[in-house]
Amino acid sequence: MDYLITGGAGFIGSHLTEALLARGDGVVVLDDLSTGSIRNIEPFRDNPRFNYQIDTVENRSLVAELVDRVDAVFHLAAAVGVRLVVENPVRTLETNLRTTEVVLEMANKKQRPVLLASTSEVYGKSTKVPFHEDDPSAIGPPTLSRWGYACSKLMDEFLGQAYWHEYGLPVIVVRYFNTVGPRQTGRYGMVLPTFVRQALANQPLTVHGDGAQTRSFGYVGDVVRGSMALMDAGERAHGAIVNLGNEEEISIRALAERVVARAESRSEIVLIPYDQAYGAGFEDMQRRVPDLSRAEALVGYAPQVGLDAIIDHVIAHYRTGGQL
Ligand code: UDP
Repeated sequence: MDYLITGGAGFIGSHLTEALLARGDGVVVLDDLSTGSIRNIEPFRDNPRFNYQIDTVENRSLVAELVDRVDAVFHLAAAVGVRLVVENPVRTLETNLRTTEVVLEMANKKQRPVLLASTSEVYGKSTKVPFHEDDPSAIGPPTLSRWGYACSKLMDEFLGQAYWHEYGLPVIVVRYFNTVGPRQTGRYGMVLPTFVRQALANQPLTVHGDGAQTRSFGYVGDVVRGSMALMDAGERAHGAIVNLGNEEEISIRALAERVVARAESRSEIVLIPYDQAYGAGFEDMQRRVPDLSRAEALVGYAPQVGLDAIIDHVIAHYRTGGQL
């Protein structure tokens, strides 16, 4: 099979590219390198089944041409990272809304299945854990730009559902929960690469707030396998919205302690008020845990890599010259 991966030079996209090429598929990557990196796709350049285009997904004629050449589309291109989202709200909203509009319109013309990458952000401040796909969202007010990201991805999901219901376009939505692993950069605020960089440099680990907020970190290899299985599942998965990640929950304070221990670092842990980290009026969610029962029922999804192994993989990646 041949696949188009938008955002294929990004963190998750490059792992997906690698896995598809490894099983013998063809991949064309479309990426504008805004947050992705050419380094991520460098190793695939000599593979005859790999092609790439450095351009924006807003380039309608190019997307039309690429969609025509493939059997299915993974749409991963998006503005990502809480820091980027808070600092560039216009770009975040426009990128997330426009790219998905173009991908769905062009895929619909050729009836190509689309997997839309969404996010656990869409659950917002919901306090009902674990989060199930049919739960309502608890998104905060438009005055706080963080929620614009959640809202833009939720609109993408609505548009995907609309194409499925109105035109029968096979669309699968996956909600990734704090995906982590080698090649993820800390530049846009993500916590694990930031902590690992700080720990390896014996600098203080910057825990936001009181560190009692929790997350559940999914290994990139697990969620990539889950995404491929959902695409491979065919009709069974069409129209579905599916959480992907890992149920293991940890507070950010405990994560910092775990990283310091596993990196055998001399770093101390410091608390940074949210206002200082993200500007005034920032809202965070206190807990975030996925309900993975739908992914399990649909494709037998079960995460294989636990948090200690994840931290070790990330540390090893950076110790052997990987970028942060
Ligand atoms: N965080 C932190 N220190 C950092 C970066 C992030 O304490 O240097 C916190 C952040 O405030 C949030 C959690 O770690 O509570 C996860 O942040 P990330 O940006 O990785 O993902 P998201 O907020 O989207 O879950």
